[in-house]
Amino acid sequence: MTQSDTDPFFVFEITPSCNFECIYCYNGCRDNTENPEKQLNLTRIEKLFDKITSTNNIDSITIAGGEPLLHKDLFNVISYFKNKGIKTGIASNGSLLTEEVVSRLVTSGVSYFDVSLDTLDEEIHYKLTGNRDLGSIKKAITYIKKSPAVLTISTIISKLNLESIARVIDFSFAFSVDHLSLNRFTPSGIGEGNRELLQVEKIDLLNLLEMVENKSAQYHYPINISLPLENCLIPHKNFPSLNFGSCVCGVKKWVIDPMGNLRICEQNPEILGSLFDRDFQALSTMAAVLNFREDDFRGSCPSCEKYENCGGGCRFIRDR
Ligand code: SF4
Ligand code: SF4
Ligand code: SF4
Repeated sequence: MTQSDTDPFFVFEITPSCNFECIYCYNGCRDNTENPEKQLNLTRIEKLFDKITSTNNIDSITIAGGEPLLHKDLFNVISYFKNKGIKTGIASNGSLLTEEVVSRLVTSGVSYFDVSLDTLDEEIHYKLTGNRDLGSIKKAITYIKKSPAVLTISTIISKLNLESIARVIDFSFAFSVDHLSLNRFTPSGIGEGNRELLQVEKIDLLNLLEMVENKSAQYHYPINISLPLENCLIPHKNFPSLNFGSCVCGVKKWVIDPMGNLRICEQNPEILGSLFDRDFQALSTMAAVLNFREDDFRGSCPSCEKYENCGGGCRFIRDR
């Protein structure tokens, strides 16, 4: 099968288990214990992806969680994807990425990492994640940078770490991190209950973007604003150095949960159905997907001249 632009890109949440307790976590089913009943083992994962790849090309897949390093079969799953010719990445909180683990992951077939880093201040890191060991994450970043893998640092934009983001940019630039992605806080999952504490006011967001724009221009360092900010709310033309993302969930990007169910996006808990029971084609063309995509923000998206660049913004946030 030849690759095409419409081939799906999957985020596979391999486990709900996590060793962090982030107060912004979108994952409502996060589990701070290790419960094998709530995830698939290697045999089932192979069965699932044998079925999906029998009718779909998959060019690349991001393995996320929870914390993917907590799945006991992770290395074998990565080798399985490698044998299938699928490019594999890991989205991790970084705490378990020792030098040896990074090296094993890369040898098994991981070609890119996405590591969360919201602040370089230990206390703020603790408030946001419940974890005190920021040092392990910084070390993980240096180990990945020594490997051939591509590294993205992902940073949440919230009230608690707003003042920290300038230092995260400086750090990322100093360590030649390949990509830096800033994502506005999304009030979903566990994060929904912490909205007051975390959600940034528009004026603060604009001030932040100004600072980010200046640093990006000064360093010649492209910075991604990955979770879309609607062009009609935040004019993108005012921030020419920044790369604004658009929403591709339900078109290009899909999420597979730890039990093999298909969802439209990470933030959206709605399950379309089990990929063991039904084909991807059938699930991905359900009315729920079409409604989600065709939802018309402010009644003006279809005729908006910025639609191509904006994509209609985040369908999940705007409903809340
Ligand atoms: S955001 Fe990620 S690292 Fe934090 S608790 Fe949720 S799954 Fe774990
Ligand atoms: S496409 Fe929709 S969300 Fe985007 S700028 Fe236009 S009206 Fe706003
Ligand atoms: S709906 Fe929002 S959170 Fe989900 S993929 Fe689209 S932009 Fe991202």
